[in-house]
Amino acid sequence: MYLVIMCYGCGKLVLVKAEQRTRVCPYCQKRILVEKARKIANVSSPREASEIIQMLKKKLINDFE
Ligand SMILES: [Zn+2]
Repeated sequence: MYLVIMCYGCGKLVLVKAEQRTRVCPYCQKRILVEKARKIANVSSPREASEIIQMLKKKLINDFE
């Protein structure tokens, strides 16, 4: 299982393994504590995660327009 979380450093969506406790954000290099981050989705594969991230990006863009 994987989680899609929101980086609290830069607000971007980051994929982590469900059992992972920390992750360095690939965008801002901040160390994210998974338990403190906002969880966006549970997914079963990285492929599903990237689909969700694409979908959410579109949604976020639409919300700002
Ligand atoms: Zn970040």
